[in-house]
Parts: sequence; structure tokens; C-alpha cells
Amino acid sequence: MQIKQIESYPNALLSCAAKDLHALFPQPTLLHLPGKNPQPIFISILLHGNETTGFMAIQRLLNKYVQLALPRSLSVFFGNTRAAALGLRRLDSQPDYNRIWPGTELAHCPETHIASQIVDIMRSKKVFASIDVHNNTGLNPHYACINKLDNRYLQLANLFGRLVVYFLRPLGVQSAAFAEICPAVTLECGRPGQQYGVDHAFAYLNDCLHLTELATHPVHSQDIDLFHTTAQVKIKEDRSFSFSDTSSDLLFDQQLERMNFTEIAAGTSLGILQDMSSIPLLATDEQGENVTEQYFKTENMQLQLKKNTMPSMLTLDEHVIRQDCLCYLMERIQV
Ligand SMILES: [Zn+2]
Repeated sequence: MQIKQIESYPNALLSCAAKDLHALFPQPTLLHLPGKNPQPIFISILLHGNETTGFMAIQRLLNKYVQLALPRSLSVFFGNTRAAALGLRRLDSQPDYNRIWPGTELAHCPETHIASQIVDIMRSKKVFASIDVHNNTGLNPHYACINKLDNRYLQLANLFGRLVVYFLRPLGVQSAAFAEICPAVTLECGRPGQQYGVDHAFAYLNDCLHLTELATHPVHSQDIDLFHTTAQVKIKEDRSFSFSDTSSDLLFDQQLERMNFTEIAAGTSLGILQDMSSIPLLATDEQGENVTEQYFKTENMQLQLKKNTMPSMLTLDEHVIRQDCLCYLMERIQV
């Protein structure tokens, strides 16, 4: 499978809904548009088909420059349009489009082939910076993620806001692959469908198009809250969980997502257990080691935190928890 590359786009792209994009781009498509500065910005959207904010921001950006010259060349990857047609993160038959990029743990497949073609194409175009736009389902603030602690990467992230997350896992994400060739960020723009998210992403993308260079000096410590992901937490596949069904192995607290980006004290309960003999979660650190026992314990039929930590990406969406993960745990890095 070859990536489809185009240098102009159908007019319908300027106004269609994300779910109708599949009719225009039935396969993964990379659009290149020329600008005054030839070194392109690379933007990927809809790597997760239900995360439409990036698509709506790109649509607004394309509308803005219909008659105007772009300040810088722009390459846009329209990701999982098949999943977008159904309003899903991915189809069950597909890999996650944000786990297929060079560095991935997945076996070679058509999607990993396309992702590595895109990186090669953008490397040959001397890509200036890379931005991958996402939403999440839980109650989270807007933040940018980076995979390299380099001043230019921190500057690019800090342009989006003061909240920045540095992570090395999961493997195979777009921003980690591009971090090898240019400053790269992942944007988390809150829930899909919020006008504020589209406004924020659009303003950021437009600002980035106007950047002539990224500063190499450190971000001022008073302008940034930088966190490092220390663990990814999943529910063990053979355990049931719910926010409402009291017969499940783990009954979560319905206020769970209020813990996102909040310092949570050791001893805090996340939910009620049917069986105290083992922890129904699997926490994995940045080296891929099982660290479940460092972070969680069972006590009084409750699942409790064992140490102070800050969660992100907690959601009440049971399908997302199964398809992706329960949450990430973080700690602050001083800059
Ligand atoms: Zn996403």
C-alpha cells in the first residue's frame, strides 16, 4: 500500500463534516500545499477517527488561505478517515493510527508501512516542525506533549499553553517518530465538539505557520508546568470493570475523571473491588516494566493509590478504557 499524495484538494474539503471526509479521501492521504517558506510544517489529524477538533481547525486554516499565500508550506496527513466515517477511534480490524509510526512495537503491516513512508517524505522535504492534533474523552485541560527534552521542542509546546507533558511510552506515536527529525508536539485539545478546542487549535496552527524559527533558549520556568509520564495504567484483560454495574470485579468511583491533572494523595480510593487477592490493573513504566505494586494497593475492599501521583486521561468512557488505557500517571519536572 502506497500513501496517496495530492497537491490540491476538492472544494468539498472546505465544508464537509469529518464523517464525510471518507468520501473525499477513502485512503490515508497526504496533502502538500506550497507556501512562502518552502520548509513545510507537517500536521496530522484524525489519527483517531472520533477526534475531530484537528480536522475542523485544518478546515478553518484552509478556508483562511483559499485566496492568500501560505506563509510556510503545509503538509497535512488525513489519518483514519474510515474510522472517522463511523465516529470511532479505530475499527476493531485496524491498528491504532497513533501506534504505527517508526519505533512501534507492532509487527510490520500496511499501516506501519504508510507511516514510515510519510516520515521519509517529510524528512526529504526538510520538515520544519510537526504537530499531531488529538482530543481526549475525559475531563482534561488542554496540553501539549513532547518526546524530547530539547528547548526548541519545549518552545513549540509552550506556544500552545503552559501545561506540557513529556513521555516516552506508548511506542509508535507520531510525535515520537517526528521528534527524530524536527521539533514535534502532540496537542490534546479537550473533548471533541467543543468550539473552544477548535479555536485554540486553529490559532496555534496559524501561529506556527508564521514562525520563522524556534528559539533555542530555555522556556522561562514561570511560564511552564512540565510533567513526565511515569506509568501507563490498563485494566487487566480478564477483569471486568464498570462505573455502574456493582457485580463487576472493579466498580470505579463516578468522580474519577475529576482527578485529572490534580495531585492525588496516597490512600485515595479509585473504586471498590469484589476480590482483594489481586490488583485488577497493570501499570507499566517508561521502560516497559510492570510497576503496578508501586502505585496501587488493595485495602478494605478498595483499590487505593499507594503513593502521591498526578493522573491524566482518566475517562468514564468504558470503550476507550478498553481500547486505549485507564490513565497515565505523572510527576512534575523542574525546568
Ligand atoms: Zn487521540
